[in-house]
Parts: sequence; structure tokens; C-alpha cells
Amino acid sequence: MSKKVAVITGAGSGIGKATADKFTEGGFRVVLADVDETRGKEVEQELKEKRGEVIFVKTDVSSYEQVQHLVDKTVEVYGTIDVMFNNAGIGDVGSILEPDLDMYHKTIEVNQHGVSYGIFAASKKMVELKVEGVIINTASVFGYMASRGTFAYQASKGAVRMMTQTAALELGEYGIRVVGIAPGGVDTPIIQGYKDMGALESMKRKHIRGELLQPEEVAGVAYMLTSPDAKAVNGSVVMADDGYASF
Ligand code: NAD
Repeated sequence: MSKKVAVITGAGSGIGKATADKFTEGGFRVVLADVDETRGKEVEQELKEKRGEVIFVKTDVSSYEQVQHLVDKTVEVYGTIDVMFNNAGIGDVGSILEPDLDMYHKTIEVNQHGVSYGIFAASKKMVELKVEGVIINTASVFGYMASRGTFAYQASKGAVRMMTQTAALELGEYGIRVVGIAPGGVDTPIIQGYKDMGALESMKRKHIRGELLQPEEVAGVAYMLTSPDAKAVNGSVVMADDGYASF
């Protein structure tokens, strides 16, 4: 049986990088996408040496053309696309009373539109190729719970939740599953803003273990969701948060 093919955005760091490692370990051929070419190429090199069949395609997910190119390139190189992991994201920190409009727009463009573009481009190709694939979107506990100082981030992650539900409903007839993952606090560079605000300790305490999650733990959930055994999970966002949103 030929190996499955997964595209992972934001694969140059954190959750995306850990997922690329997990997926190649699990036998996937992986297309790494990131706007940061240096880090993307480093991960490509690392995984090639370790075991994997991987390629890196520099992609800014806030550009529909670039996301379409990413999907086209995937099919050109590996012949198909089975999994699309729309994971790239950025954090924002700011005040509602003094909004930074550039930051606001950028956050929505990457975190919300980037996921939409991944859903659009991947599903179109999956339908064209008659692939019953899986689309996974990275949401956040902040798509469920309010938090101070991260207005645009909250809005974008709330949108990811609803886009996941809606896309699952519309794409179900083609056998495409659309699911989400809502991590709690994960020890990656994106939470630097929280560190700067001095909010890291209170964030840690929100987890049952009292610690941040590791990116590998979220990668494990993403891998699990690609399994045919997870067929009943569709249109929902799985909490990968060590209880963060529960209490
Ligand atoms: P990270 O900063 O380690 O990784 C994010 C990656 O996305 C980086 O490699 C970055 O270069 C890339 N990226 C940023 N903008 C991009 C763009 N326009 N196009 C393509 N790539 C782009 O952070 P992470 O924690 O691994 O974040 C991954 C996802 O997990 C994000 O969607 C984030 O919102 C979500 N998330 C993270 C946490 C956390 O606490 N770390 C919690 C909940 C959700």
C-alpha cells in the first residue's frame, strides 16, 4: 500500500514541527509548509536525515495563491493529498481601547483566512482526485474561553471552530472529514507574548498538571485523528488541553 501524504502548515516550529516528526514516524510522506524558509529547510533536512520522505514548500498561508501552489506542488511531487493540517498561526497581544489595526488584520489573515484557504484548496483537490481525506485545523482553548489582551487571536480561533463544523457538514458527502484540535498552553515560541505580559504562571496553573503541554503531545492527537479508527470524529474540535477549558 502506498504511503499517505500529509501537508502541514507552520511546520518550521512548535506543534507543526512535532507533527511532521510524528507523521513521518507513522509512515506518512510529508510536505512541510512555513513562511519562514530557514526554519522550514532546517526541519526538512533534519527529517530527511532521520527517516522521512519530506519536502519543504515555502508558503505564506495568508495568500490563497500560495496555498493553492502548496497543494498543487504536493500532488505534483507525491501524486495525492490525504491529510491537510492547517496549523500555522501567530499570536497577538494588545488592547481593545488602543487597537493595533495592522496586528489585528494580520492575525485574522493568518489564523482565520489561512485556515480557510487550506480548507478550500485541499478539499477541491481531494474531490478532484476522489480522495477521502482528513482536514485538521488548529484551533485553541482561546476559541472557547475569553482572555484579556488577545482580542484578534480569540476571534480567529472562534472562527476556526465554526469553520471546522461547517466544512465538515459540506464536505461530508465527498467522504472528507474535517476536525479541529484545541490545544491549551503549549511550550512553543508563540506564547512569548504571554511571557512578556507576566501571565505565564497563571496559564500553567490552568492545566491539571500545572505545566505547559509539549508540542509532541498535540502532535499525537493530530496523528490519532488521521486514523480510520477516528472516523466518528467529524465536525468537532478535540480539546488537547490537559483540562484547561474544563475548570
Ligand atoms: P510556533 O510559533 O512554534 O509555530 C508557528 C509556525 O507558524 C512558525 O513556524 C511560523 O513561522 C509559522 N507561520 C506564521 N505565520 C505564517 C504564515 N503566514 N504562513 C505560514 N506559516 C506561518 O507556534 P505553535 O504553538 O506551534 O503554533 C501552532 C498553532 O497552534 C497555531 O495555530 C497556534 O495558534 C496554535 N496554538 C498554540 C498554542 C500554544 O500555547 N503554543 C495554544 C493553542 C493553539
